[in-house]
Amino acid sequence: MRRSAPAAPAAAALRARVYGAGPTGALAALALARSGWAVELWDPLPAAALLERSRAYALTHSSAELLQSLKLWQPLQPHLAPFRRLELCDQALQRRVAFRVGDLPRRSSAGPVDAVGWILQHRPLMALLLQELESQPGLRLHLADAAGPGAPEGVNLVVAADGHHSPCRRAAGIRHWHRPYRQGCLTVQVRLRGSQPDQAWELFRPEGPFAVLPLGDDAFQLVWSAPLPWLQQLEALEPAAFLDALSAALPEQLQAEVLLDRPRAFPVALDWAWPLQRKGVVLVGETAHRSHPVGGQGLNLCWRDVAVLQQLASRAAGGRLPLRLLPRRYAARRWLDIALVLLATDALVRLFSNRQPLLLPVRWLALALLGRFSWLRALSLSAMSDGPCRLRWP
Ligand SMILES: Cc1cc2nc3c(=O)[nH]c(=O)nc-3n(C[C@H](O)[C@H](O)[C@H](O)COP(=O)(O)OP(=O)(O)OC[C@H]3O[C@@H](n4cnc5c(N)ncnc54)[C@H](O)[C@@H]3O)c2cc1C
Repeated sequence: MRRSAPAAPAAAALRARVYGAGPTGALAALALARSGWAVELWDPLPAAALLERSRAYALTHSSAELLQSLKLWQPLQPHLAPFRRLELCDQALQRRVAFRVGDLPRRSSAGPVDAVGWILQHRPLMALLLQELESQPGLRLHLADAAGPGAPEGVNLVVAADGHHSPCRRAAGIRHWHRPYRQGCLTVQVRLRGSQPDQAWELFRPEGPFAVLPLGDDAFQLVWSAPLPWLQQLEALEPAAFLDALSAALPEQLQAEVLLDRPRAFPVALDWAWPLQRKGVVLVGETAHRSHPVGGQGLNLCWRDVAVLQQLASRAAGGRLPLRLLPRRYAARRWLDIALVLLATDALVRLFSNRQPLLLPVRWLALALLGRFSWLRALSLSAMSDGPCRLRWP
C-alpha cells in the first residue's frame, strides 16, 4: 500500500528516509516532518499488522513531554491510564516502598504532573500515529512496501528504526552487542482485585521482576519476568491453571480473576549498537538498544532518541546546525543516557533476582533508605522518569 500526503514541502526542505514504522520510527518520522523536513517512512508491514500487537507501555515524564511538544498528548488523553502510586516490593525480604506523585521533583517545564506515569495500549497509540502520519504535509508513507537499506540520491539523512534485527544497521556496517538474559518475559492482561485503579506495582521476585500496570477500572497489564522455559510452560496452560499459577506469584493482597487476553512469553536481551551513526545513518529505538523490561524503561529510552533527533533536525532545517554534523551530534548526545539505562536495568535484575545471602542486606538497606528519605525517592523517580542524564534535584 502506498499513500502520499496532500501537500509537498518547500523545495529546499532537507530529505530524510525513515526505516520502520513501529512506535519509534513513526514518531521520529512525524517529528522530522514537523521540523520542516521532507520525510519518507517505509515499513514492510501493512497498517493492520502495525496496529495489531497486544501490548501496553508504561510512559514516563520524558515521553509525556515529547508527546506534548508534538501535540499528541491531548488526543491520547482518553487512552492514558495514569498511576499515582508505584509500590516497590521485595518479596524475598517482604519489604515495600511506595513512590507517590508528591515524591516527584518540582518541574519547571510545562509537562503534566498529575501522575508518576501513564499506561498506554499499543493500538490507540499506533492508530493516532498512523492517522497523523497520513495527514502530515511533507510526509510520504510507504506501508506494506520494502525499500533496500541505504540512502538513495538526494536523501540527506537515514533514520534506522527497523527493530532489533535491523537490516539497515547491518548494511551500514554498525556493530551490535547482544547478550540474551536467562529470564524471559510474559505479558498478559487480567482483571485483578486488591489494587487501586491508579496504582502500579514492581514486584521483585527471586525468579525475576514482575510489573503490574493499571489499564483503567480493574484491568491490569502484567509483565512477568522469570526463566524463559518456565514462562513458555505457563503460556501453554489452560486459563484456569494459568490463573492458579498467577495467584501463587502475586502477593496475597492481589487476586487475578479473569484473563483478558492470551499470555505471551518472549525472550529478553540486552542489545547495544555502536557507534550510533555511520555514513549518514542514525540509529534510533530498539535498532540502537534493547533493555530488560524492569522499570518500564524501553520505549521511553527509544523516545528520548526521537526527542534529541527532533531538536537537532529542527536546528539543521533552520540552518543553525550544519547537516554533516547532525549524525555525530546525535550520537554524542545519546550514548550516555543509553549506557546508564542499560547498566541500571541490568544491575537491578542482578541485584534483585535472587536470594543471595550476601545481597539481601544490601537490598534491605536500599529499601530502608528509600523509605526513610523523600529526597532519595525524588532522585530515583527523576532518574526513571526524566532519564539519568536529566536528573531533577528535589
Ligand atoms: C514480544 C514483545 C513484547 C513486548 N511487550 C512490551 C510490553 O508489554 N510493554 C513495553 O513497554 N514494551 C514491550 N516490548 C518492547 C517494545 O515493544 C519496544 O520497546 C518497542 O516496540 C520499540 O519500538 P521500535 O519502534 O524501536 O521497534 P519495533 O516496535 O520493533 O519496530 C520496528 C519496525 O521496523 C519494521 N521493519 C523491520 N524490517 C524492516 C525493514 N527492512 N525496512 C523497514 N522497516 C522494517 C518492523 O516491521 C517494525 O514495524 C515488547 C517487545 C516484544 C518483542
